[in-house]
Amino acid sequence: MPTVTPEVMARYEAVIGLEVHAQLDTVTKAFCGCSTKFGSAPNSNTCPVCLGLPGALPVLNKRALELALRASLAINCTIQPRSRFARKNYFYPDLPKGYQISMYELPLALAGGIDIEVEGEKKRIGITRLHMEDDAGKSLHEGFPDSDRWSYIDFNRCGVPLIEIVSEPDLRTPAEAYAYLNTLKQILEYTEVSDCNMEEGSLRCDANVSVRLRGAPKFGTKAEVKNLNSFRYLSHALEYEIERQIGVLESGGTISQETRLWNVAAGRTEPMRSKEFAHDYRYFPDPDLLPVTVSTATIEGVRKAMPELPDLKIARFRRDYGITPYDAGLLTATRTLADYFEATVKAGASAKSAANWISVELLRRLNDAGKEIADSPLAPAAMANLLAKVEKGEITAASGKKVFAKMFETGKSAAEIIAAEGFSQISDTGAIEKIAREIIAKNPDNVAKYRAGNEGVFKFFVGQVMRETRGQANPQLVNEIVKRVLSE
Ligand SMILES: [Zn+2]
Repeated sequence: MPTVTPEVMARYEAVIGLEVHAQLDTVTKAFCGCSTKFGSAPNSNTCPVCLGLPGALPVLNKRALELALRASLAINCTIQPRSRFARKNYFYPDLPKGYQISMYELPLALAGGIDIEVEGEKKRIGITRLHMEDDAGKSLHEGFPDSDRWSYIDFNRCGVPLIEIVSEPDLRTPAEAYAYLNTLKQILEYTEVSDCNMEEGSLRCDANVSVRLRGAPKFGTKAEVKNLNSFRYLSHALEYEIERQIGVLESGGTISQETRLWNVAAGRTEPMRSKEFAHDYRYFPDPDLLPVTVSTATIEGVRKAMPELPDLKIARFRRDYGITPYDAGLLTATRTLADYFEATVKAGASAKSAANWISVELLRRLNDAGKEIADSPLAPAAMANLLAKVEKGEITAASGKKVFAKMFETGKSAAEIIAAEGFSQISDTGAIEKIAREIIAKNPDNVAKYRAGNEGVFKFFVGQVMRETRGQANPQLVNEIVKRVLSE
């Protein structure tokens, strides 16, 4: 690929639209009673319906429809009173029915949008449509002794319910695409529509990308880039593809409308198939499934059962807990984290110290240990218990951090660790005064400086006393005593 200078890049603008597939978090498949459990023995979750055997009849999973309706409202789409499943016909070994059940000319919901934020700037990204469909199976080309000669097929994923969310071509940079996918993922997780586990394929993303000279009235020819199944791939693939297209145009070429695949190992997009040979999917209404009719009452029911969305939770956290906008944003990053914070406050911690300790101490340790908040060795009640001891002055904040580290490592309670390690706060005035006098006696130079008006050395004495007491002396008492002894 010819390299394009930043000056040339700056003359162009990218136009990006994303198609996101999310697996609905149901127990059973879209049109049969088979389990959707990930990781089951290959081909164990199958039946005549999801294998497309002759005579088998699909029945729509009510829960799947409810979740799809919930997602539609959460992304501000208008639910259509009548939608219809269609057959999307194509042949592929992982598709035993010979067609995918999708929606075509009558999708479930239309014309929504979500707000994203990039570098402090808010932007509304339009959503064209949301429709329901079922998933295909999986071909396994690797990992078997005879993989050089055979491919294996696992039909467990056949018939798993999905929603496809198609955005308007409103995204202009890889950073905006990243923010859009992140915001969408957060909404789908919050509403429990999908677990959005990208490693298990519950959230997948394809992108339509084109470039044009800034200010040009028309869109350029677009390429579809597939297989962007992690945030990292999305960013890298878009950056690559934008630069590739600008390079082609700058060297006098034209962009061909085609599907390209992100090659993770090679770090580039590669042509997969040209649209000239594009499938004709021969869509037609699925004769085995009734049209989907959604009444106003049903929509109102879904709206009433809607879990709190991220924006509303941030506003409520700021209002009810009086925490900073920054902390509110951080603590609502995932619903699990927000729940953890609220449970800690409910267990008796003050909102301010809970916000502080969770966002600083807990998140840092989880991050270092490569763990998620759901795997936290400290339950919210244990966290609240520790914070209460710090607030009541049983231990100092400095000791609290050490106790916290031990709790995180061992899973023991604050009380056990304080008893075993002797972290109790020293509030014995006599003991503190004795240490303070020793330190002051050992540092006549600094005493002279202090008396000459250098207030800064005061901190030195306090620091020395705290160090001598392993951070366990009551800081307020230390301040008072050092001040008194120095002024004698
Ligand atoms: Zn089945």
